[in-house]
Amino acid sequence: MAGEVGTVFDIVVVGAGSSGAVIAARASEDPDRTVALVEAGPDYPSLADTPWDLVNSHDNSYVDHDWRFSYLPVAAGAAGPFPRGRVTGGSSAVNTTIALRGVPEDYDGWAAAGNPEWAWDNVLPAFRRLERDLDYGDRPYHGDAGPISIRRYRVDELTPPQEAFLLAADELGWPACPDANDPDAWGVGPHPMNKLGRVRVSTAVGYLAPARIRPNLAILPDRPVRRLLVDGRRAVGVEVDGPEGVEHVRGRLVVLCAGAVQTPAVLMRSGIGPGDHLAALGIGTVADLPGVGSNLCDHPAVAVVCEARDPGAAGRDLPIIQTILRYTAPGSDQRCDLQIEPLTFAGSRDRPPSFGIAAVLEQCHGRGEVRLTSADPASAPTIEQHFGEDARDNERLAACLLDAVRFLDVPPIADLVGAVRFPRLPLTMDGALEIVAKRSGSGYHPCGTARMGPAGDAGAVVDQYGCCHAVDQLVVADASVMPSVPRANTNLTAIMIGEMVGEWLRTTPGRYGL
Ligand SMILES: Cc1cc2nc3c(=O)[nH]c(=O)nc-3n(C[C@H](O)[C@H](O)[C@H](O)COP(=O)(O)OP(=O)(O)OC[C@H]3O[C@@H](n4cnc5c(N)ncnc54)[C@H](O)[C@@H]3O)c2cc1C
Repeated sequence: MAGEVGTVFDIVVVGAGSSGAVIAARASEDPDRTVALVEAGPDYPSLADTPWDLVNSHDNSYVDHDWRFSYLPVAAGAAGPFPRGRVTGGSSAVNTTIALRGVPEDYDGWAAAGNPEWAWDNVLPAFRRLERDLDYGDRPYHGDAGPISIRRYRVDELTPPQEAFLLAADELGWPACPDANDPDAWGVGPHPMNKLGRVRVSTAVGYLAPARIRPNLAILPDRPVRRLLVDGRRAVGVEVDGPEGVEHVRGRLVVLCAGAVQTPAVLMRSGIGPGDHLAALGIGTVADLPGVGSNLCDHPAVAVVCEARDPGAAGRDLPIIQTILRYTAPGSDQRCDLQIEPLTFAGSRDRPPSFGIAAVLEQCHGRGEVRLTSADPASAPTIEQHFGEDARDNERLAACLLDAVRFLDVPPIADLVGAVRFPRLPLTMDGALEIVAKRSGSGYHPCGTARMGPAGDAGAVVDQYGCCHAVDQLVVADASVMPSVPRANTNLTAIMIGEMVGEWLRTTPGRYGL
């Protein structure tokens, strides 16, 4: 017999990450609306109690608050770790704090695919609302009063590889870009970052800290959701592994925000997913939705790695990333589909101190998938990216890798290099193509695994408001609903999704049966 937590909440939000924490905070602004925020990981109510790996944004937190997933980047390659945050704040609490927006065309593309609410002109107010841009808050496309503080490193704060990268980019003729979040911008400059000093401004810090005193918001940490409670074709709550055993948290509306890996996993464990896959695992089908777990998009990347001539220049206590080059592949009709980012430190800790130059493909045609291995909530899903299988992707990423290698010839960078560890030089286009086909890795930006789209779109799991096409009173709102990966690191877009759905829950509750 499962225990019952509290009463029947108006809204049960699953997952306190980049989107879920925002939705819980925004929805609970209405004092008459009861909201439960259910999170698998721990909660640290004050910054003073927060462990150092979550505070220290100079490097990602990979171990202490992680789901321990592994993934297969390329079909014929080896599996590797696939970090995802397991704590209030979710992956925003463990990440690199790059606060980059996609380009307007990303969101206009979502709108053109049958989701008109997500056009750039409609999402821009949400991007403005979420941020407090300390450098450009006075610009019409920025905000100056939101929960997430964003700033850019000054030149005198840059580590040696980051400063050398800007100088070398100038020598190579790349245009300067002081604000990478200017909707029309491209070129090289400082990264917008959601960190203040070393402190990572996660959604737990920016959104939950001021909201947690509300009597109508219950934050329920350490409660991994086993599956949704579904009555007929209506979601009525969630079943969790609570501190005292299995518990039920009931709600009039369930909003699933468990991220692009766990959201499809929870759906499939609940009988919502591809019918043949569920049948093979002995899971009774509630709704046959082939889009669940499919359409996995991400940013494939490969990095040049160099031993530093001066080991101190690549110290692991320095900020890992501070600058970016955002540009368009030759002949591409996808603006800003490439990124080059210097990494102050790279490679394993047992090798001599090294820095890196990462080449990243920002708009991808290839797709992967997330699948269950069993109905047991404790078993991890499989994550297969299928990078390196689409020639259009490989050609652009290979061109980007060659552009990254060109930095090694320019004195400010060349002066830092003790030895080039990867790739073997000189590098030809054929060599670069072989590398991206065999050695691409994830930028840790999975999305698209429960994508939105209109009724009649066979791959769509939810409509443009996040409402599930097949189960009533079930909303999905996190990186899973993105139809395609934006041409930017995904955290700000996930927070924007939380802002959009949180606002709709507050202002148009009737749409959600509230
Ligand atoms: C190491 C790393 C570095 C990154 N760096 C950057 C960066 O610098 N900039 C950037 O823009 N993006 C970055 N990203 C990506 C970005 O953080 C994510 O795209 C974004 O956080 C996704 O938001 P989300 O709400 O979809 O999922 P998440 O933020 O991952 O939230 C999901 C939440 O749901 C919880 N959850 C999952 N399953 C369950 C369950 N069964 N029961 C209860 N709770 C559950 C999780 O514990 C988590 O708290 C990085 C990601 C990682 C992992």
